[in-house]
Amino acid sequence: MRFVLGTILLLLPILQTTQSAPAPVIDSHQHLFSPAAAALVTGNPNSPGITARNLIELLDSAGIQRALVLSMAYTWGKASRAPVADEYDHVKAENDWTAQQVAQYPDRLRAFCSFNPLKPYALEELARCQKDPQLHYGLKLHFGNSDVDLDNPDDVAKVKKVFEAANRFRMPIVVHLHTSKDNQRKYGADEAQVFLNQLLAAAPDVPVQIAHLAGAGGYDSATDSALGVFTDAIARHDARMKNVWFDATVVVRPSTSPDDLQKIAARIRQIGVGRVLYGSDAAASPLAYPKAGWAAFQRLPLTPVELRAVAANIPPYMRDLKRH
Ligand SMILES: [Zn+2]
Repeated sequence: MRFVLGTILLLLPILQTTQSAPAPVIDSHQHLFSPAAAALVTGNPNSPGITARNLIELLDSAGIQRALVLSMAYTWGKASRAPVADEYDHVKAENDWTAQQVAQYPDRLRAFCSFNPLKPYALEELARCQKDPQLHYGLKLHFGNSDVDLDNPDDVAKVKKVFEAANRFRMPIVVHLHTSKDNQRKYGADEAQVFLNQLLAAAPDVPVQIAHLAGAGGYDSATDSALGVFTDAIARHDARMKNVWFDATVVVRPSTSPDDLQKIAARIRQIGVGRVLYGSDAAASPLAYPKAGWAAFQRLPLTPVELRAVAANIPPYMRDLKRH
C-alpha cells in the first residue's frame, strides 16, 4: 500500500503536466480535401476526401470548438507532381468547395484560400478570393509544396507581389515556410532571413502565422536555425515580428526525443506562449486526429500554466466567428 501510494505521489507531477491542460479553443491548422483533391494526392480515385462534417466529428471528440481550415487548392499546382490539365480550374474548384464546406458550420469553421504563389494565376485567384464571402478571411501559402526557393530572387519577387496584395486586401497569411524537401532546397537561417527582410516586410498590416514552428512537421536543426532568426528578432523587438504568430502543428510526435522536447519548449518560451497556436494538420490518419495531436503537444516540458496559455490563444482572424 505504502509502495503504491509512493508511486502515485511520484507520478503526480507527470500526470499534472500531461493531463492538466484543457483542450485548445482553436485548432489553427486544419485541412479539408475534396474527393478530387484526395484522389490527386493519394492516387486512389475512390478516395472519399475529408469533409467539414468529418472534421467537426473529430473536433468534437477532442473538445475543440473552432478550426482554421487551410484550403488544399495549392496542391493542384504542386511543383514535384506532373502538371494536371486545367490546373487553374481545379484550384478555383477546390477553394470554392472548401468555402461551401465551412459555410455549413459558420460558428465553428473558417477557411483561408490558397494557391501556388509562383503560378501566373496567383494574383487573379487572390483577387477572386478577396471578393468571396467565405474566402476573403485569409490566405495559405505552402512554400514546400509550391517549391518557392527563397534563395532565388525571381521566386522571392513573385511571392512578394502576393504578400503586398494580401496586405492591401487586409488578408492574413498562413505560411508553410520550409522550402521543398522533394527538390532538396536549402533551408535554415539564411532563408528565414530572406523571409523576414523581403516578405514579412511586405505585409506589415496583416497577421502572419508561420506554420509548424517554421519547420515542416517534426523538429530538426534546419528548423531550429530558421526559428532562431525569428526568436532573435522577437528578442530585439523587431517591428516586423509584431503581427507574427506561430503554429506548432505536428512539431511534437510520439517519437520526439526528450532532448528535442527541451529544445522546442525553450524556443516556445523565446517566442512567448502568447503567440504560439495549437494545430493538428489534416486528419489523414488517427495519429493526426486533433485528440492525438493535442496529447502529443502536451509531451513538451511546459508548465500547466504555459500549456493552458497556448490552449487559450485565439489569433485575430478567428475571433469573430458567428455565434449560435
Ligand atoms: Zn498543413
